[in-house]
Amino acid sequence: ARGVVDAVARALSRADTVRRLEVRANADTPEDAARARRFGAQGVGLCRTEHMFLGERRKLVERMILAGTDAARDRALAELLPLQRQDFAGILEAMDGLPVTIRLLDPPLHEFLPDLTDLAVRIAAAEARGGEADAHDVDMLTAVRRMHEENPMLGLRGVRLGLVVPGLVAMQVRAIGEAVAGRLRAGGAPRAEIMVPLVGDVRELRLVGEEVRRVLADVSRESGVTVDCPVGTMIELPRAALTAGRIAEEAEFFSFGTNDLTQTTWGFSRDDVEAEFFSAYLDKGVFPVSPFETLDRDGVGRLVGIAVAEGRAARPDLKIGVCGEHGGDPDSVHFFHGAGLDYVSCSPFRVPVARLEAGRAALGGTEGSDSR
Ligand code: PEP
Ligand code: MG
Repeated sequence: ARGVVDAVARALSRADTVRRLEVRANADTPEDAARARRFGAQGVGLCRTEHMFLGERRKLVERMILAGTDAARDRALAELLPLQRQDFAGILEAMDGLPVTIRLLDPPLHEFLPDLTDLAVRIAAAEARGGEADAHDVDMLTAVRRMHEENPMLGLRGVRLGLVVPGLVAMQVRAIGEAVAGRLRAGGAPRAEIMVPLVGDVRELRLVGEEVRRVLADVSRESGVTVDCPVGTMIELPRAALTAGRIAEEAEFFSFGTNDLTQTTWGFSRDDVEAEFFSAYLDKGVFPVSPFETLDRDGVGRLVGIAVAEGRAARPDLKIGVCGEHGGDPDSVHFFHGAGLDYVSCSPFRVPVARLEAGRAALGGTEGSDSR
């Protein structure tokens, strides 16, 4: 076993000396970030913030999104701010000196709001007992009905939520800015990057970008240290890929969200790959491997190519990565190398595989790997 371990270590270090792709990890907790670092990750390419709004904080999220009044929403945001500051401080500490790409909140709404049926059943049960339904339940039912979407994955997600809920972007950016300021004062080297999800048009990014810069200027003034974070965007809608030249005018980096880009290019739900029909469909041989596992070069890959070319034409120093599941798939890593990306980001456990494949891609050209 010792010999195998040594051989793997040698292969990894050889790969690290030749590879051109940087390898980062997707991590949303300090523990995951530390683990990723041990596996050789050169930063966090995607820190999802959705999980930070679940559990006990769910009530605050309900108030933030469904709030009947501005004051109630602002109170919920004010309670979330110190919690978020702590979330980000922990990850920045674990990754000190390395880039951490923090993505603004991107929940499909149905995962956050109370379930419509549950509420209706609870209210009906209370009334059937001859009592009064819980007033909070009744308010929630009205609010959830108002917000109901037939296709939440195509609905109020990502940047759309940030533009629609006043104060949400400002709260997250302030938390990031204050966490950065805190680490700078403690002598650390935080490198937070702010990433905007589900952008389809440059104007969305421009609006959010203005808000980010305004909040970071406030934090810099208040804290007495200069807090400056690059602002970039996910490219995860076909329209974003096709208008990447314009989007690059407002983005300091791109990160391909190939999970959503595959979903929206193919029109297959990424949440239904376990459904019976999907494997039956795979069996028809229309695609050799699920496009959610291995990047579809002919369709999604062409969109990636267009976005890289247009983005770099508009901004030659544009940093470009990928943070969808494909970032840790060997065949896809070869594709991303060939497409000229700067980095791939994958789950911490896949980091060594990505390092090896990035090395092999650098040595062997851009063709698919023979590891499968
Ligand atoms: C993606 O869409 O590929 C992505 C990385 O974002 P998420 O999986 O969180 O939607
Ligand atoms: Mg996505």
